[in-house]
Amino acid sequence: RKRVVKISTGSKQFDSILGGGFQSMSISEVYGEFRCGKTQLSHTMSVIAQLPKDMGGAEGKVAYIDTEGTFRPERIAQIAERFGVDPDSAQENIAYARALNSEHQLELLNTLSKEFASGEYRLLIIDSIMNCFRVDYCGRGELADRQQKLNQFLMKLAHMAEEFNVCVLMTNQVQSDPGANALFAGADGRKPVGGHVLAHASTTRVLLRKGRGDERVAKIQDSPGLSTLAVFRNDPDSSFSDCPEREATYIITNGGISD
Ligand code: ADP
Ligand code: MG
Repeated sequence: RKRVVKISTGSKQFDSILGGGFQSMSISEVYGEFRCGKTQLSHTMSVIAQLPKDMGGAEGKVAYIDTEGTFRPERIAQIAERFGVDPDSAQENIAYARALNSEHQLELLNTLSKEFASGEYRLLIIDSIMNCFRVDYCGRGELADRQQKLNQFLMKLAHMAEEFNVCVLMTNQVQSDPGANALFAGADGRKPVGGHVLAHASTTRVLLRKGRGDERVAKIQDSPGLSTLAVFRNDPDSSFSDCPEREATYIITNGGISD
């Protein structure tokens, strides 16, 4: 009945570590330090999702929840030009909303649920998932409340991804506290915020970081939930050694994410 669709990142290398692109009916998370390209990826995919399938798109509309105020319509126009799409229609196919606080962020999902019933939407961007929650619940004693509200938001998200065959892409910040990093971080010293609640909600987690020169690096992380790598491992047609590379490099251009 519903078929999973894959939406390209704009970079063939990046797509290949994902098995073709970010998938519908699941929640994906990209996280990394400031300026690694999370917002640029969000813009790029907002255009690509509208393209025909043979161009890596899903022929769908896009909803964009912006919690940091970094959405730029003029970037959408530039990226549309790269793909030979009319800049005005590219912008019109993106339903943009600025989330003012975490409560509002949840309300926006309820509004979008009604929009998604049209069946036209294929991509939902949240850039970034934790920003409002971190501002609204900043005290130590508020952490349990925050995680409960966050869980409520993510349950709703997962439900929408499934029900409407939508790809959910959320960006996430990393912990900047060096003490916390030293205790909990992986070998590369970067840990996403949001704790276990967020970790379990993401089907695919990708770490973005700066590479040599203008290069950026995307690295698939094994997530506690059903990860991309687990999908490959469970595929009877492929053995563990057939696992695709975990890492890919990409660059950021006027036309968005590219090889
Ligand atoms: P993040 O959201 O992870 O903080 P961004 O997605 O905002 O990071 O990426 C910022 C980076 O994107 C900057 O290093 C900037 O140089 C680059 N960038 C932004 N616009 C362009 C462009 N038009 N051409 C090339 N690079 C760009
Ligand atoms: Mg950003």
